[in-house]
Amino acid sequence: MGSIRLEQLSKSFGEHAVIPSIDLEINDGEFVVFVGPSGCGKSTLLRLIAGLEDASGGRIIIDGKDETATAPARRGLAMVFQSYALYPHMSVRSNIGFPLKMANVDKAEIDRKVEEAARILNLGDYLDRKPRALSGGQRQRVAIGRAIVRSPRCFLFDEPLSNLDAALRVAMRLEITELHHKLGATSIYVTHDQVEAMTMADKIVVLNKGRIEQVGSPLDLYRRPANIFVAGFIGSPK
Ligand code: ADP
Ligand code: MG
Repeated sequence: MGSIRLEQLSKSFGEHAVIPSIDLEINDGEFVVFVGPSGCGKSTLLRLIAGLEDASGGRIIIDGKDETATAPARRGLAMVFQSYALYPHMSVRSNIGFPLKMANVDKAEIDRKVEEAARILNLGDYLDRKPRALSGGQRQRVAIGRAIVRSPRCFLFDEPLSNLDAALRVAMRLEITELHHKLGATSIYVTHDQVEAMTMADKIVVLNKGRIEQVGSPLDLYRRPANIFVAGFIGSPK
């Protein structure tokens, strides 16, 4: 569970066609990275998939079903943002359990799921703290915990590490890909950082001005960049 197909998906803001038309296939269990320069439409594309923006045209097929018009909460996807978006007045436990509380899940089940997520993310000792008493890496783990408790068919990450310092960023890259494998999930990960893309992805989608320049494994892109843009962006010798 977790395949996603985009068919002629497009998005315009007024006259500005940010995404002219995208076709893309994401397989169940893949770790897919959308990479490209700032302003190329990565977040817009992710938000379309999440349902946080309405498409101007085309279709989003999830596990074989047309979900283009489905409300975000019903798509079975969970988004992790760069800014953590944690509630400062709530404990770690309440922050992680929040989506389940909103869905009227009963308290015993929420506690069980929160504790399971906390164990996976090494947050077990921090459940009663407030976000301000956590490090940047721990806060990002809480944000990931809030995604995990919903058992999504796909995780959507929008530049989750860009607020962290360089050393922590390297550690969190490994944590996120490990987690992806441990949960057997599908993940779409947005970044403008080529190194992040090359080290984390099963499949990289290179975007430029709302268009796909190339789709391939990190090695494919490095060895056989489709054009000068990809070669320059990935830093391969062409
Ligand atoms: P990226 O995430 O790759 O940096 P974005 O998807 O955020 O790029 O933005 C792509 C383009 O779409 C930019 O030119 C941006 O100004 C424009 N854009 C994004 N969201 C909106 C919006 N809500 N209204 C108008 N323009 C937008
Ligand atoms: Mg963005």
